Amino acid sequence: MQTTNADPAELEKFAALAHRWWDPNSEFKPLHDINPLRLDHIDGIAKLAGKRVLDVGCGGGILAESMATRGADVTGIDLVDKSLKVAQLHLLESGQRVDYRCESIEALADREPASYDVVTCMEMLEHVPDPAETVRACAAAVKPGGWVFFSTISRNPKAYLFAVLGAEYVLKLLPRGTHEYAKFIRPSELMDFCRHAGLQPAGLTGMTYNPFTRRYRLEADASVNYILHTRRPA
Ligand code: SAH
Repeated sequence: MQTTNADPAELEKFAALAHRWWDPNSEFKPLHDINPLRLDHIDGIAKLAGKRVLDVGCGGGILAESMATRGADVTGIDLVDKSLKVAQLHLLESGQRVDYRCESIEALADREPASYDVVTCMEMLEHVPDPAETVRACAAAVKPGGWVFFSTISRNPKAYLFAVLGAEYVLKLLPRGTHEYAKFIRPSELMDFCRHAGLQPAGLTGMTYNPFTRRYRLEADASVNYILHTRRPA
């Protein structure tokens, strides 16, 4: 690992679950359920076909592989080798092509600055010690004129109620301890990180879950889960 911006306890949590990435009824069910929505959202903005895409914190490749199905040339990085092995194996089943590497975004951005048309970093910032540093490295990896997408969880009483108590304790969508409230990031804070990194915020989209219909949707309400898309000026 070439970065200090990683929390070993967080990486261990994901390593312990790695064999379950592609089980749609596992701890990763919420990621499978939101994937078609976020994929369409990203593709609608960034037009993935033919683009060079970097997925940061790709895990088992749920998003990375789906972006490849849209014709993107995808590289996926994560620091959990077990997850990348699972992602790699799944390519045999899907027949897709993704270049998976066990490397930090900081190291990759040093080696390949301004190299990607699109960078995605989904549901990862709330697991790293210094999210602003991750944002800077993502900004360094994207080409001028390229898009960078982040998704994470906001920090306010409603987010605590829905993302921690609701998801982990009441609905049991996620294992207890998956998320730590103090690491949640308000959209205004993430936009500040982006501006400091030279990325222009271009749109904020909420992702909500209705426990009665068990449906996720994208909408204006960004008080709990949200996606921020940004652009590096040309
Ligand atoms: N982005 C994927 C997975 C989200 S789960 C998706 O949305 O489907 C969070 C992922 O971030 C895990 O795979 C975990 O291993 C990874 N991760 C956590 N800290 C990281 C770090 N510092 N560098 C790279 N990946 C990290």
